[in-house]
Amino acid sequence: MKPENAAAMGAAIDDGLVSRLPRTDPRVAAASRCLQCGTCTPFCPGALETDFAFLPRRVTAAIAENRPLGLEIDACVQCLRCAVACPRGISVGAMVNALYEARMGLRPFREFVRMAGMIPATGFLPLYTRSLDPLAFAQKKLGYRRVVTAGAAEELRQLFGPQPDARAVVLAAVDHRPPPAVPVPDEVYGFQSCCAFNYPGIAASSDLLLDRLGIGVRRSTDETCCCGAPHYLGEIGLAEHVLVGARNLTVMAETMETGGVATGVGVCPTCYSTYRETLDLLENPLNRAAVNARLEKVGRTVEPPSRYAILHVLQVLDARRDELRSEVAGSLAGLRVGIHLSCHFRAATRDDRGYRALRRLVSTTGARHVPSVYDTNCCGGVKDLFGRYLTGHRDEPSILNREASDARSRDAIDLVVVDCPGCMLVYDHQEI
Ligand code: SF4
Ligand code: SF4
Ligand code: SF4
Repeated sequence: MKPENAAAMGAAIDDGLVSRLPRTDPRVAAASRCLQCGTCTPFCPGALETDFAFLPRRVTAAIAENRPLGLEIDACVQCLRCAVACPRGISVGAMVNALYEARMGLRPFREFVRMAGMIPATGFLPLYTRSLDPLAFAQKKLGYRRVVTAGAAEELRQLFGPQPDARAVVLAAVDHRPPPAVPVPDEVYGFQSCCAFNYPGIAASSDLLLDRLGIGVRRSTDETCCCGAPHYLGEIGLAEHVLVGARNLTVMAETMETGGVATGVGVCPTCYSTYRETLDLLENPLNRAAVNARLEKVGRTVEPPSRYAILHVLQVLDARRDELRSEVAGSLAGLRVGIHLSCHFRAATRDDRGYRALRRLVSTTGARHVPSVYDTNCCGGVKDLFGRYLTGHRDEPSILNREASDARSRDAIDLVVVDCPGCMLVYDHQEI
């Protein structure tokens, strides 16, 4: 985000923040492990867009030395690419998120979730204020059939209460673990994504494909927003993020009515990474006990992580691609396709498995993958997109947006395949 945009959002440099950070928060404690090697710098959209005024290693240095930041923290788009690049697996994005939590600014998305259990369609209105297209908005609203029960929203109100301190729920840091290979069962739980509001067709086509593959999908209106997007927008703290993730895992297990492993599938990599992070944290019995002490208030108990498995629909389709091939009605040979894997999926796996799966699926259709910056760049982030709309700078493309746009014309790319409704939103709204 450009500094003037960030300042207009009330997010000017705040040098009092570091001193307010709880030093035992695992996100904060990681700062002292930073080598100052700078490996993360070339991967960081925040650094690129600010002409390297924002540097991830300057964030870790200031926190490790407990001194003022002197940095615009809203330059961070919360892509978590730093965690993938870092030889020590340090997530500077998570550290910046702890700073957002210390800042406690306006939090409309947190209020939406607290009151309705989800982000209602009107929460996306900022993205329509420039286009002023009420018809398009109404059509999408009609296609957005997400319902959350009043009882589920009430549970969230009880869990949220006054802002719970991350330290009350996350007592111990856990090293990131690459997610295990998950077998695809005949019946899965279908997670719903608030962020897919703009594209009701994503969930519909996912359901259609799962149906063609003979995979049954159960859902529950007791499932709430996973709180991934509000968390990365800086409105929901780590404790609430983990509590909501754990609560939704219990909803999944009770809906699947199985004594074995309950497997959930969703279309959104931010939901996927939310549940993966929650499962990682729950591996530590201390964290699980702290989470359950809170969940007991709403009559729930999260079981050990081995009881739950999470998949992005991309992984399901890739695992069953031989069957999918027989469903291809006509070859897309001749189509030139760019491939973009979301940063959040890559951050959850810390490897290229998602990218390889996308490539295999594209080749299943007969289309040709054209290597380009789409393969490697972050899209720029939904957080940055919201910032542009809110500050009236919608039409000013970022460097990443321009690189994508140039690649599209230079490499004659007909369409771009993504795994993320958020990336799709960014590319669509920047008309690239
Ligand atoms: S966060 Fe990691 S990659 Fe970045 S400077 Fe520190 S040790 Fe190096
Ligand atoms: S989360 Fe992304 S933008 Fe933020 S510091 Fe890490 S790489 Fe940079
Ligand atoms: S929208 Fe997708 S690519 Fe962009 S920051 Fe989020 S996860 Fe990364």
